[in-house]
Amino acid sequence: MSDNIQTVTVLSKTTWTPTLFSFTVSRPDSFKFTAGQFVRLGVNPSQLKYYQQIEASNDTSDTALNEDIFRAYSIVSSPFDEVIEFFSIVIPDGAFTSQLQHLQVGDELLLNTMPFGFLTLARYQKPLPKDLWLLATGTGLAPFLSMLQDLKTWEDYEHIVLAYSARSTQELAYVDKIKSLQEDFGTLVDNPAKLIFIPIVTREPVDGALSERLPKLLLEGTLEKQAGIALDIDTTHVMLCGNPDMVDDTKEALKSLRLVMNRRGEGNIAVENYW
Ligand SMILES: Cc1cc2nc3c(=O)[nH]c(=O)nc-3n(C[C@H](O)[C@H](O)[C@H](O)COP(=O)(O)OP(=O)(O)OC[C@H]3O[C@@H](n4cnc5c(N)ncnc54)[C@H](O)[C@@H]3O)c2cc1C
Repeated sequence: MSDNIQTVTVLSKTTWTPTLFSFTVSRPDSFKFTAGQFVRLGVNPSQLKYYQQIEASNDTSDTALNEDIFRAYSIVSSPFDEVIEFFSIVIPDGAFTSQLQHLQVGDELLLNTMPFGFLTLARYQKPLPKDLWLLATGTGLAPFLSMLQDLKTWEDYEHIVLAYSARSTQELAYVDKIKSLQEDFGTLVDNPAKLIFIPIVTREPVDGALSERLPKLLLEGTLEKQAGIALDIDTTHVMLCGNPDMVDDTKEALKSLRLVMNRRGEGNIAVENYW
């Protein structure tokens, strides 16, 4: 096993829908990361209690896996938390999540403690921080929750717009947490950013939520209107995370609004695709 791989214990699990859940694991003392980064998480199905129960009943026909499987996972929790939190999809035939969905408190996972990724606020050197737009679909919310639990984010910006898109209200996870972020973190610094939360639900009408895809909302000006601030090449940082179709189409929409990709620290747009 690589030196970077450590065993961590599952401490809690929250099920949002049959295909979405969150969980926390113990944090190794030496593990450091920056808000927005991801790690590689590993599961060995034979280590899960669920698997052991099936094995005890001698029915291992469809769970005959005994190899470590690793996948990239963004960290939800802040760099200062004692535990590490993750937010996961369940892909029924996915090699990793078809096993991970059976996690129980007390199970052990593997954590590669080398953090990866440049979807971090430190990447922006120009323009200087003023307005931060965080645009997520589904589990792509994860890195933004980490940033929003880091006091520096609240200190550095004037406005933070969080637009978070899901198919249904049930899939819009963490809404209560998002609604308490201003109170929980914004009150701890002088001149905190103002958080503007824009929920988007695409497959059912919901009061108080927008319903179109992010690229359309941008191109029609609806998102700026809802946020009450404008996208501006000289003052805006925009981060996109989640579904690659959303990321590509939204990136193009932003470019047509004259924003530019961030390269070597300069520019407005930074992205992370989940597949
Ligand atoms: C940098 C990075 C960070 C990531 N962070 C997260 C995270 O925080 N939470 C998370 O759930 N996943 C995250 N992923 C995706 C994750 O690595 C796996 O793809 C996911 O856990 C599914 O694994 P699987 O083996 O079950 O299916 P895979 O074989 O990996 O994927 C099968 C298919 O499932 C779909 N899919 C994969 N991931 C997602 C997803 N998150 N939401 C919707 N559809 C998906 C795609 O169509 C994909 O082709 C991240 C990926 C990258 C590259």
